[in-house]
Amino acid sequence: MTQAPIGPAYPLLQNRTCSNCGLCFHAQFEAHVEEICPFEDDRVSEREVQLHGRSRRLSGDELYFGVFRSMHAARLSTPRPDSQTGGAVSTLLERLLDSGKVEAVLTTRRNPDNTGTPVLVRHAAELAHTGGSRWDLAPILDLVPEVKRQGIRRLAVVGVGCQVSALRAIEAQLGLEKLYVVGLVCTDNMTFANWQRLIKTTSRSPRTVKKLEFMADFRIWFWHENGAIEKVSYFEMPMDKLRGCFPQACLSCFDQTNGLADLSVGYMAADIGWQWFLVRNEQGEALFNLLRDDLEMGRFTDRGNRSEAMKQILRYLGKPAITLPSLLAQLFTWQVEHFGPRGLEFARLAVENKQTRNWYYLKTHRPDKLKKLIPRHVQAILDQYRLK
Ligand code: SF4
Repeated sequence: MTQAPIGPAYPLLQNRTCSNCGLCFHAQFEAHVEEICPFEDDRVSEREVQLHGRSRRLSGDELYFGVFRSMHAARLSTPRPDSQTGGAVSTLLERLLDSGKVEAVLTTRRNPDNTGTPVLVRHAAELAHTGGSRWDLAPILDLVPEVKRQGIRRLAVVGVGCQVSALRAIEAQLGLEKLYVVGLVCTDNMTFANWQRLIKTTSRSPRTVKKLEFMADFRIWFWHENGAIEKVSYFEMPMDKLRGCFPQACLSCFDQTNGLADLSVGYMAADIGWQWFLVRNEQGEALFNLLRDDLEMGRFTDRGNRSEAMKQILRYLGKPAITLPSLLAQLFTWQVEHFGPRGLEFARLAVENKQTRNWYYLKTHRPDKLKKLIPRHVQAILDQYRLK
């Protein structure tokens, strides 16, 4: 296993909108940042035609989730310990390495303090610490030159949307025989310090939190060392103490569902305990088929109507988020959990919520980026709400 050396610190790139994907740690890529960086231009629209054979439909679920051939709710028949949402991605990587379909996997290793380190894994046994929660965005593309140096020809990469977008921009330069891209669905990420701030201000026992997740039941879940799960309503989170937590990059992102991956995996549209798979192209199908025997297939829930929630979200756009008193937050959470958007409708709401928030952020903070970064499909969502 090759692990990334400590690259330049993230703040050095703060004069740019940057998610620390790692490519700019290398002069040959930094020199072309305007052509490769996902925060310089919308790279998804054009590239999805090349990768998936067509652009996404501007109606139905492709408007929110991107091009897909099939969509599945599934989970590993035998869940893996230490995984984030069941462990299907780790098992898939194991299958890829064991079958020889790839020679290496570029992913992130979880450190004991829950930070991540980019790693180039050559043997399935080394995947033991690559699943589960990580409280930062590790610069996986820092290891791209190492892929070339080691003469790797068949590679799998696991990354969030901005990492995948940057990778796709330089894919041709890698001269690979085969590249499989597993995309993680990602709505917001933070620096390690800001995750710590969130944990300290939100959990009743910050020191024992070992994993956390924003869940589709409108609560953040904290898993503690003693096995207890603490659930805190989104509506009672101390928003005044969390201002400025989300980096400029996440506020400028319009690719939450990872539209340039072959196979996207996340939790958003699936019921709790299940995973959501979006098969985007032929390679994505091959990846999903490799995993099929390990999976128990489920069904999607699709309930509720996001329009009332979106009305409220748009009403408070740009205003400081409110924290409800605990009892009121519990009641409200119970109500939206039982009668509000759920399953696929929750995922559509999550995408619209982030995309309208991010549109507003660019409009008010980076109007110079507005035209460049908003893809046609996001404009179609904005048009539905008459946002100009
Ligand atoms: Fe460079 Fe990646 Fe940061 Fe963009 S996101 S500026 S490509 S390191």
